[in-house]
Amino acid sequence: MNILALNAGSSTLKFKVLRFPEKREKVRGLCERIGLEGSCVSYIIEGNQRSYNAVLENHNDALHAVLKVLTEGAAEGFYSSEEIAVIGHRIAHGGDRFVEPTVIDDTVLEELEVCKELAPLHNEAALKVIKACREMFENVPMVAVFDTSFHQTMPQKAYMYAVPYELYETYKVRRYGFHGTSHKYAAYKAAEALGIPLEDSKIIVCHLGNGASITAVQNGKSVDTSMGFTPLEGLVMGTRSGDIDPSVVGFLAGKTELSQEEILRKLNTESGLKGISKKSSDFREVLEAMNTGDSNATLAIEMFVYRIRKYIGSYIAVMDGVDVLVFTGGIGEKSSYVREAVCEGFSFAGIEIDKVRNRTVAGDGEISTDESKVKVMVVCTDEELMIAQETYEVMYKGDEVCTTNS
Ligand code: ADP
Repeated sequence: MNILALNAGSSTLKFKVLRFPEKREKVRGLCERIGLEGSCVSYIIEGNQRSYNAVLENHNDALHAVLKVLTEGAAEGFYSSEEIAVIGHRIAHGGDRFVEPTVIDDTVLEELEVCKELAPLHNEAALKVIKACREMFENVPMVAVFDTSFHQTMPQKAYMYAVPYELYETYKVRRYGFHGTSHKYAAYKAAEALGIPLEDSKIIVCHLGNGASITAVQNGKSVDTSMGFTPLEGLVMGTRSGDIDPSVVGFLAGKTELSQEEILRKLNTESGLKGISKKSSDFREVLEAMNTGDSNATLAIEMFVYRIRKYIGSYIAVMDGVDVLVFTGGIGEKSSYVREAVCEGFSFAGIEIDKVRNRTVAGDGEISTDESKVKVMVVCTDEELMIAQETYEVMYKGDEVCTTNS
């Protein structure tokens, strides 16, 4: 059976079709710059890479482009869209209502609209895509896979904010955590690759992309994570500030003409690497500027690395040790500079990376020295595979346990 996994971001739509139960990838692709100039579609179908420019004014157009890829695939002898048995969607915020992957029906769709309140910036694109799928793939069942659900195992002392308890009871103000599919995939994959039993392991996963978060995974379960009520909390990110004293919002609202919403928008979209470097949210561009001696770019990268190190230190304390440190996400997978800077000086905690392995690793691989007590690994995340896997498990419960494909 073929499962279509869809991962909608604010201006992107990633897609992948996998054949289950073998987990054989048939097509994967990306619709980029949705709603912006220069949008394009790129995909790999049965090993062949293609791309073309397309007018993608909204997520509806992007989904049409996905359908075109599938149908064109059929024309070339691959398969048709009718062969999609089920669609899995990534949803950023499931609130406290959705603790596990869920089959989408009318009631669930209504409840997802309510979760949108919690994360207007994050759930909106996925909801648009779900609605468009209902029209384009009329009778195909759909499953929602939540970024928050992996973190539902956090103990209450980790997920609560120390605010009046009624605010938690009435408004569900608490930490939820995000990037769950990626953290789970990376932790499971690392344990599998290293031959470490997941049920007796302490793993710290650093997902470093445009959005970035760190999770402490003990015995296969998330016990703490850096993002909170929304993805704004935690690390310094491409455009998000990460941890900040909330008094800053009230202070700035009093000092400037900005409304609370506008200040929050600045913290979400104009801060982080972009805000400090005054150049770009793109890590490569900030690194390039640092290498030409730009002091703001240097500070931005120093802050980025410093915050990651603080979280790693605190998660070693949370788990009373660590066996494996994993880097994933665009920056985690590709920047040997960041991995080296993060690990430097951590030998007291048993973390030692091999500089040559670190610079030459391609794809998944171990980058620690043979003597290092803590294994350090790069794992290329595959959220779409995880979405498809969880979708499969919900639709065909109990058929097989969750493993990664290797
Ligand atoms: P998203 O959160 O949008 O999925 P990604 O995981 O794709 O983001 O990560 C995007 C980030 O990865 C960008 O900041 C980009 O600059 C960075 N990146 C991509 N390739 C490299 C590289 N070779 N070296 C350093 N950073 C890189």
